[in-house]
Amino acid sequence: MRQETPLAKKRRARKIYRVLGEVFPYAHAELDFSNPFELLVATVLSAQTTDIRVNSVTPQLFAQYPDAAAMAQADETQLQTLIRPTGFYKNKTRALLGLSQAIMQEHDGQVPDTLNELVKLPGVGRKTAFVVLGNAFGVPGITTDTHVIRLANRFGWTESTNAQVVERDIAALFEPKDYTELSNRVIFLGRRVCHAKRPACGACPVAHWCPSAGIGEINPQAAKQLLAYELAPGREQLHQALLNGATRAELQAAGYKWEA
Ligand code: SF4
Repeated sequence: MRQETPLAKKRRARKIYRVLGEVFPYAHAELDFSNPFELLVATVLSAQTTDIRVNSVTPQLFAQYPDAAAMAQADETQLQTLIRPTGFYKNKTRALLGLSQAIMQEHDGQVPDTLNELVKLPGVGRKTAFVVLGNAFGVPGITTDTHVIRLANRFGWTESTNAQVVERDIAALFEPKDYTELSNRVIFLGRRVCHAKRPACGACPVAHWCPSAGIGEINPQAAKQLLAYELAPGREQLHQALLNGATRAELQAAGYKWEA
């Protein structure tokens, strides 16, 4: 690609953002939660595993420990057993106990709603804090998870893999009000199309604006086979239902499974 002016780069980035909004108008944090505490716990559990795996353990976990007060007093072994399928369960158990106790002792049992306070909780880094701020408190933030870092590089938005540098470079291209939505849309693309190992360039909705187009499968039919979740071949009905505004809960009740 020719040397791109900063203005052209910003315009291209925003075009990608808009197109992703058309393809994934239902993009959202894919962890199931009903309050900030549940999202905080689910996000801590999501390290090194998939949201699908986390969503499979949290209903039972939250039934037993619905808030910080209950989790702060949880039996360590029992907690480990419940979250074991998410991996690294000993470290995660320590983090959940630690953050629940800190929330009880320092925040009257309520999850704090500022970056500074959130990152002081055990096991909570900037990425987790921004997920919670953006999706539970409506405070815009860029989630620099593995998908966002990978795609920001492929899009030419950054040349770094350092999360804070990536966050800064992305922040310069977008309006702060769009940060959370942008993160959700990019993560959706990363999970469904632009995979780490075999990106489906030939079936990618933003290939036209991506300087890395062609690093993955470019044959449209072969690329389609690489798509995941609702975009996978044979799941057109599910994708259409989501575009029509059906919620994930409604679709699950109708018998759809969420795996690819
Ligand atoms: S064109 Fe290829 S590299 Fe670029 S975002 Fe799409 S799948 Fe990823």
